[in-house]
Amino acid sequence: LPPHLRMDGGGNVRVVVRVRTFLPREVQRGAQCLIHMDPITQQTTLLVPDDLDPANAKTRSRKVVEEKNFTFDNSFWSHNAEDDHYATQEDIYNSLGEEFLDHNFEGYHTCIFAYGQTGSGKSYTMMGTPEEPGLIPRTCEDLFERIEAAQNETPNISYNVRVSYFEVYNEHVRDLLVPVVPNQPPYYLKIRESPTEGPYVKDLTEVPVRNLNEILRYMKAGDASRTTASTKMNDTSSRSHAVFTIMLKQIQHDMDTDETTERSSRIRLVDLAGSERAKATEATGQRLREGSNINKSLTTLGRVIGALADAKHNSRKRNKDVVPYRDSILTWLLKDSLGGNSKTAMIACIAPSDYEETLSTLRYADQAK
Ligand code: ADP
Repeated sequence: LPPHLRMDGGGNVRVVVRVRTFLPREVQRGAQCLIHMDPITQQTTLLVPDDLDPANAKTRSRKVVEEKNFTFDNSFWSHNAEDDHYATQEDIYNSLGEEFLDHNFEGYHTCIFAYGQTGSGKSYTMMGTPEEPGLIPRTCEDLFERIEAAQNETPNISYNVRVSYFEVYNEHVRDLLVPVVPNQPPYYLKIRESPTEGPYVKDLTEVPVRNLNEILRYMKAGDASRTTASTKMNDTSSRSHAVFTIMLKQIQHDMDTDETTERSSRIRLVDLAGSERAKATEATGQRLREGSNINKSLTTLGRVIGALADAKHNSRKRNKDVVPYRDSILTWLLKDSLGGNSKTAMIACIAPSDYEETLSTLRYADQAK
């Protein structure tokens, strides 16, 4: 990996951006591509069309009047598969997932978020499709390959892997590994805080997994549970944050002294709610509460990551008290995976032809740098 893409000692927050390909319906209406990415400088450019009238936003006839530039740790181009800097699912894994798994084996916690409006490629990036698996299945596969290899090379180390999968919806936590009961309202879990372990979800299912097939089965079951509940409840999946967690424990047995030492790390892979919901403030009633709650998790997350990034740039600001973890359920629960002994990455997902939402996503990502 080129040096500028690796995280050095002080930098625990990595922010990258990924533009998705045009969808068939966008090709059909001749949608205009408003994104440029420079493969050398990694700069992302958003073209500002002269006419932001939404009625015209769907055609390619607009003139570009301005350019807005953003620089992130990496810009993943997947707009046109013919371009040689097109980033495949494998490329994303190789430049981010693999390195994060290295950190996990070194004993660090890691957390990778996908942020962006609904339809910008968050699920594609995290989960992917059967033909094009995303970060989660690739991480699982690599994890068990490494464990298998290590078991031959270092038989005195044993490995213990457990997995949990939950979603945060409207500041409530739902266990995705518990099947949805038909005709019953969703069951939410309580959050507790332990003096040693910090915040945790009480009674959350944590299952031991021994191989790739097992972990993928849970991944799919959780995903199905998310989708089932979502169709019943009016597409909640775009409004909920899905947190897939792999707990890796490495137990080293010293043959001479007969002592064992343990090293635990948590791998968090998070598909965030659609960022367009963060602005749903004009609605009323349930929608308002929901809008403002989702707003709360997403804006708090932005502030938390921003505060951590500040600490990276200015070590004198490294003051845990200013990081507002407790302001939302999501950041509170992920406290152990944000800051401290952990590495964080945010993948800002953008659509190629949606000016307003893309600008807001790039700004959000920019404050997290
Ligand atoms: P989100 O999770 O942000 O709502 P999705 O991941 O569901 O968005 O993506 C929307 C659509 O775009 C899906 O049909 C997905 O398969 C497709 N898609 C997203 N990113 C890419 C990409 N990089 N290459 C090809 N198709 C993509």
